[in-house]
Amino acid sequence: MAVDTRPSTSSSSSSTSTIVTAATAASVASASASASATAITEPLAWCTARARIPTPDGSEYFLHIYENRVDRKEHLAFVFGDAIRSTSLDRVRPGETEVDRIKRGAYTGRIRPVPTAQAATRVEDGWISHAEASSAVSSSTMTTAEASSRASSSTLLATTTTTTTTTTTTTTMASATVDSDVTMLDVKALSPSPSSSSSSSAVTAPLVRIHSECFTGEIGHSARCDCGEQLDEAIRLMKAQGSGVVVYLRQEGRGIGLGEKLKAYNLQDLGYDTVMANLLLNHGADERTYDVAQAIIQDLGLEDIRLLTNNPDKIEKVTENSSIRVVERVPMMPKSWEAIHEGREDSLEVKEGAVENKIVRGKELNAYLVTKVSRMRHMINVPVPFQ
Ligand SMILES: [Zn+2]
Repeated sequence: MAVDTRPSTSSSSSSTSTIVTAATAASVASASASASATAITEPLAWCTARARIPTPDGSEYFLHIYENRVDRKEHLAFVFGDAIRSTSLDRVRPGETEVDRIKRGAYTGRIRPVPTAQAATRVEDGWISHAEASSAVSSSTMTTAEASSRASSSTLLATTTTTTTTTTTTTTMASATVDSDVTMLDVKALSPSPSSSSSSSAVTAPLVRIHSECFTGEIGHSARCDCGEQLDEAIRLMKAQGSGVVVYLRQEGRGIGLGEKLKAYNLQDLGYDTVMANLLLNHGADERTYDVAQAIIQDLGLEDIRLLTNNPDKIEKVTENSSIRVVERVPMMPKSWEAIHEGREDSLEVKEGAVENKIVRGKELNAYLVTKVSRMRHMINVPVPFQ
């Protein structure tokens, strides 16, 4: 049942990936015939799907799923901003249709369903609203899945937009009309596609956070660590800047897994610190690895990055034998400690929940952070009461 979605390969074992250039929805028509023409260095990780995730404040990001050659986990990337593209996702796969590409997220801009080809002809210069699309349907409305499997035709629109701080410009529209056994491409270039890196944002290296899964801290409201707070803060910063990547690695409990992490928590309740607890369970103090993160960052076409971290180990490992350069380390100050430094601890508002503004505090967190500074080289300014 398992489907091998790995990219085709021509040589083995390297974490670097030099795959064909990004293929947009609009370029599929010409690219499909030459899909396998380019020599490929086998990647360590590759993106199998991506989708738009709207968030409560009206912003959105694209969640990317990665498979890899290191473990059986599906690692993730939260990608903010339209300029950052996955090379492996965009690569044209032999035999795939426009709808195939849209289903796995290999399109540019935004997609909207338009149930009839006639409706598509009504779109002259940009978005068609959902209401307009619905009113254009006289009989039945088909889902995308139905559209691709039924003989009657339907139309999917892929509308490419470029958003800057001041303007929103519709640049390219591609529509794929799907019939029972024929895929037709009708690509309209409403205006020339701009270079994706022509804006001033290209000058600034994007923010990147390499974040390891923490069920307890992100989902379980735990005050033993600040992982949920760090994830929220990284997302908040990337939303504000309109660009960035959270590489979300599925390595719970600094790589020992959730079950072993719970055992470590019991040892911590006996008085051992987070490092000693791991060692007593015959684990390393930190068993996380970053070669998959390195491969994902490379797949997203990033070289100069600003890394959100307090952990020097991440900087060393993500740049090791790599073209990736950390041009700036952006510290992640624990919110409760930041409040102490600024003398506003008493006014600190603690909110629960993993979506936004979660601020963690408590004696367990303080002990955890002190251990990270004293035993794991983390670069955090420790407040006087805990020194
Ligand atoms: Zn945690």
